[in-house]
Amino acid sequence: MIECIFTLDYEIYGNGEGSLRELVYEPAEKMKAIFEKWNARFVAFIEVAELEMIEAYNADRAIELVKHQIRDFYTNGFELGLHLHPQWYNARYENAKWRLDYGEYNLCILPREQIKKIVDRSIEYLRKLLGLADFNPFSFRAGNWLFQPTKTVAKTLIEQGIKIDTSVFKGGLQHQHKMDYRLALKNGYYWRFTDDVNVPDPKGNLIEFPIYTKMVPLWKLPTAKRIGLQRKVPTRIRTGTERLLRIPDFLRFSRPLKFDFCRMTLTELTHMLGREIHQDQKDPYLFRPLTAIGHTKDMLDFETIDSLLGYLRKKDIPISTFREIYHKYNLSKFQIKS
Ligand SMILES: [Zn+2]
Repeated sequence: MIECIFTLDYEIYGNGEGSLRELVYEPAEKMKAIFEKWNARFVAFIEVAELEMIEAYNADRAIELVKHQIRDFYTNGFELGLHLHPQWYNARYENAKWRLDYGEYNLCILPREQIKKIVDRSIEYLRKLLGLADFNPFSFRAGNWLFQPTKTVAKTLIEQGIKIDTSVFKGGLQHQHKMDYRLALKNGYYWRFTDDVNVPDPKGNLIEFPIYTKMVPLWKLPTAKRIGLQRKVPTRIRTGTERLLRIPDFLRFSRPLKFDFCRMTLTELTHMLGREIHQDQKDPYLFRPLTAIGHTKDMLDFETIDSLLGYLRKKDIPISTFREIYHKYNLSKFQIKS
């Protein structure tokens, strides 16, 4: 029983350079058309902090288009998830360049009051944008996947009615930010948690749907497509210390390859799914939600996305949003046997 959830990080990631129209609006519009063609829906993870600041500084005229598009997603049944890069909230826009506050890069290490302020502020922006005072996002993804230490942010999200997190990618490791998802490798396809997103807790109020990954030998990671994208997308230049801190992350024999519909080729994507389909034939009663990720800024190859949806249709694999899955499988009552 496989179901796929397509998630789209809707943002200009990195240093804030680039235009909303090219890097967010246009690719998202094309992706929406492809999904509607297959009568499928994705989850758009709206990075709210940057949109609010871009609007406040009047830094990009396409902000109105973007806001219109988000409303359009909502009315057409696409799920709006909350995505947060808190470094944007103290950002300054000087000489047509953004200076982001990297002191607030990881939401999880900020003081409790600050966390609450940031989460409340971001949801308030979405409510105003949609004109719905009681809107609550259903799902969350942390900026740069950083959801450790988990406890305080998780508690704040629950207070705001969020039910599902999808920040984890099993096997993920970033020493610099003390993020370590290697422990999650032994978890199932989804689990409840409370104090640490890695550790299943049947009584937890949040459910983790990790971004699907496969551990692959290091030398197998870069495809031509991915290398091409890295050249295209400008990111912040790392300082010498930051580069040194990242060295242990690379000293591994295998690394997680994310189910990424922008960065992988169709062959890689169907190969990854083929493995799960094979497992599913042996045990078809196990529910296997597979969460895929993409970024608006990484979208170059729309043909691959279209073909992938065609492949899933042929294999009879449904595409759902988190909200749909939660209700369909009655997950409010789901508990992991301890
Ligand atoms: Zn992001």
